[in-house]
Amino acid sequence: MRPTRIVLPTPYAVGPVNAYIFPDEPVTIVDPGPLYGPAQDALERGLQELGVDRGRIARILVTHHHPDHSGYAPALAAETGAEICAHPDAIARIRRPFGDPEATECLLRRHGVPHEVLRGMDKELQRIVSHIAPLEAAREICDGERVRAGEEELLAVLVPGHAPGHLAFVGQGFIISGDTVIANLTPNPVLEVDASGRRKSLPEYIESIKRLQSLPNLPILPGHRDEIEDPAPLLARYLEQIAERRERVLSALGDRTVQAFALSQEFFPMRRGADPFLALSEVLGHLDLLEERGLVEESQEGDRIVFRRRT
Ligand SMILES: [Zn+2]
Repeated sequence: MRPTRIVLPTPYAVGPVNAYIFPDEPVTIVDPGPLYGPAQDALERGLQELGVDRGRIARILVTHHHPDHSGYAPALAAETGAEICAHPDAIARIRRPFGDPEATECLLRRHGVPHEVLRGMDKELQRIVSHIAPLEAAREICDGERVRAGEEELLAVLVPGHAPGHLAFVGQGFIISGDTVIANLTPNPVLEVDASGRRKSLPEYIESIKRLQSLPNLPILPGHRDEIEDPAPLLARYLEQIAERRERVLSALGDRTVQAFALSQEFFPMRRGADPFLALSEVLGHLDLLEERGLVEESQEGDRIVFRRRT
């Protein structure tokens, strides 16, 4: 049986987020939303309409660590005694939302992000972190594991790219996709730095879309916006759009040697808050794809990281 959607407001530009409830035992919620009063009120109202007492929630599934989806999970677990289930990479990031901020800042600087833009990003990231409760215990769910949610047996499928450790949950006749698939929106391949360096978020995302394409074409219940009855055309369009943008980045690069931030500002001239971070994430993703194809090379010039066409 499909879960019931409860739409929750968020304090972020992305707008409302979807939580999904399986009202039977074990009562399960997927992505309980941000730590944000209006979202908790909306969740309470939604549960009341369903006749579900919040105290009966036994399991909290988290698709990915972004605080619009998971920020409230630790507090809800503490209130109800429910267990949080998420991929180990997501759990690590709920505990430390931006991993190693110094390593990330250093990398951003080397990609050419100027000081004042870094300060703006930092302020925005601090605001985002303020909507996450600290996490105590959590159960690790890995790719291919099955987990009960109400009367459903969900299959966890690892679909990283938008976020490391992002899980989709496949049930009988539906897929809960988190932010991997959203109607009329191409999810961001968010820049992530871990112990081994910068992750190749966009190449990972493409593999995840291909993974979803290999599954039955079931209706998708996304992390934002409405259900997608027939996702196959949307998944194909994502791959086409990414290929088109990749080619645009290649032609914009021309014969220059440039830093990724400068290139990202040509595509998305935004310098406030987290926008330049997302723009840089996107352009670095395309540069990674071009590098994989042997068309572009990344190199160091002193402390700077630069890109040029391979000749
Ligand atoms: Zn997200």
